[in-house]
Amino acid sequence: MKRLRRWLFNLAAGVSLVALVGAILLRGRGHHYMDQLVYRGKARVLSIAALDAWIGVALSPQLIRNGNVGWQYSTSASRDLKPSDLTSADALHVLGFVYDRRRFVLQGDRDRQEFLVFVPHWSLFAGSAIVPACWVLARWRERRVRVAGCCVVCGYDLRASPDRCPECGTAAKAEMTQS
Ligand SMILES: [Zn+2]
Repeated sequence: MKRLRRWLFNLAAGVSLVALVGAILLRGRGHHYMDQLVYRGKARVLSIAALDAWIGVALSPQLIRNGNVGWQYSTSASRDLKPSDLTSADALHVLGFVYDRRRFVLQGDRDRQEFLVFVPHWSLFAGSAIVPACWVLARWRERRVRVAGCCVVCGYDLRASPDRCPECGTAAKAEMTQS
């Protein structure tokens, strides 16, 4: 159980680290480009975009009848669109997070709405850095306990029995006795 938990912790830390690097690269790319992944359905269009300091998701009505259905990727110069410029009556700005709602009134049609949510990159950095930071902290604490000559699992003093912890039965690994 402890081994499984440790393995999951290592895995989560690794995945988060990859996400963190990805977020940093996207942020750098966002200075010059807007990358957009769009799914066109029959009634709705879902857009996911990386632009400037944000990741944005928009759910819009399909305005083109009998248009193409499916996924589309595009990239363009990004300087024209800034989520911080969204200032409609429904727009909500909190700590760089942006929510907005836009209405389309089409002739002979009911009005349809578009929903936009923008997540700032800083929250992605923070969110993906938590687990790796805990990992580093846990390793550092483990090392400190090891150097002090105590069991890594339960903290029992191992100076009298360096091979195996008499308290919880954890075998002292070679790397543990080295440092
Ligand atoms: Zn122990």
